[in-house]
Amino acid sequence: MNNFDWVQPKTIAEAATAVKNGGVAMSGGIELLCLLKEHLIEPPSVVNLKSIPGMRSIDVAGSGLRIGALATTTDLAENSVVRNDFPGISQAAASIASPQIRNVGTVGGNLCQRPRCWYYRDPEVKCLKKGGQACYAVAGNNEYHAIMGGGPCHIVHPSDLGSAFLAYGATVVTNEREIPIQNFFVLPKDDIDHENSLRPAELVTGVTVPNDWKGARASFFKSKERESFDWALATALVLLKMNGSTVSDARVVLGGVAPIPWRSTEAENALKGKSIEDSVALAAGRAAVSRATPMSENRYKVPLTTNVVRIAVLQAAGLKAE
Ligand SMILES: Cc1cc2nc3c(=O)[nH]c(=O)nc-3n(C[C@H](O)[C@H](O)[C@H](O)COP(=O)(O)OP(=O)(O)OC[C@H]3O[C@@H](n4cnc5c(N)ncnc54)[C@H](O)[C@@H]3O)c2cc1C
Ligand code: SF4
Repeated sequence: MNNFDWVQPKTIAEAATAVKNGGVAMSGGIELLCLLKEHLIEPPSVVNLKSIPGMRSIDVAGSGLRIGALATTTDLAENSVVRNDFPGISQAAASIASPQIRNVGTVGGNLCQRPRCWYYRDPEVKCLKKGGQACYAVAGNNEYHAIMGGGPCHIVHPSDLGSAFLAYGATVVTNEREIPIQNFFVLPKDDIDHENSLRPAELVTGVTVPNDWKGARASFFKSKERESFDWALATALVLLKMNGSTVSDARVVLGGVAPIPWRSTEAENALKGKSIEDSVALAAGRAAVSRATPMSENRYKVPLTTNVVRIAVLQAAGLKAE
């Protein structure tokens, strides 16, 4: 890694100025250290956001939750209000990595983490996303890549919190503005260089979650290769509002299958007005992948995602998933 200056700002404005001058923001530092060690970035300075006070709290306001960007994944997973009223968020948080990583990784860092694509992570490879001429995943190894929304780059977004916040209709708060989360993540066809719509020197300061889906039945189900800690092969976050035994409204967000957390209105429509049973959950799973365009090595993700959605729907409805 290159030598860099260590900047300890006391305010978000100081941090933004340091980033404007070429510095790179650091929260937990877990991901940032990898980027530095892999020579994917060589900034003149690293700007430690943890030196700014007051950015770690999780507060309940009249209109919903206010989560500081420096709240850790453990803070989210263990907060009693989040667990009771927004269980999809705490379940997603609890699924992430290992206890050690959850204790250090933050909300802001999780949303802003870079892709895990092995070509992207290889310092010797200059693919399309790094200013090169080709996406090597297209003709190469693409078993972990996108089955929806890809092209010309086929990454999947690694953030499980992103899926949870999208399902609950959250807003990302920055030092400059408020960004509805559906406008925060961007597809490669719209911006090949970035995975989110943050401007240069714009920093995430927090996330607000409205009460719209507070108390809804929820399940986050994640399929991964290793049981211990791993990023997802596919995830589904399902929220259900019930009128008696009938679904009056539903949210279905997929993770691990697209360059952004992927809301499936097809799956939601397959659930609305129905009583949940296995055939309905399976229909929602099939609807979720109805527009999938898998690559040469990731066809397995289509039936996998179908079943991941099916299980999450059954679990959200309080039914046993086999
Ligand atoms: C082995 C392993 C397994 C993992 N598994 C999962 C998983 O299953 N699901 C999952 O969701 N995550 C997973 N993660 C990611 C992890 O949970 C952290 O979210 C991630 O490492 C980044 O968090 P951080 O706070 O350390 O960010 P940092 O490393 O500090 O920063 C990450 C990036 O975000 C930028 N950044 C940080 N904070 C801000 C901010 N406030 N505003 C703007 N930009 C910012 C940094 O400049 C950097 O580019 C895993 C990580 C590891 C190492
Ligand atoms: S998927 Fe994206 S990051 Fe991976 S090789 Fe293709 S262009 Fe590069």
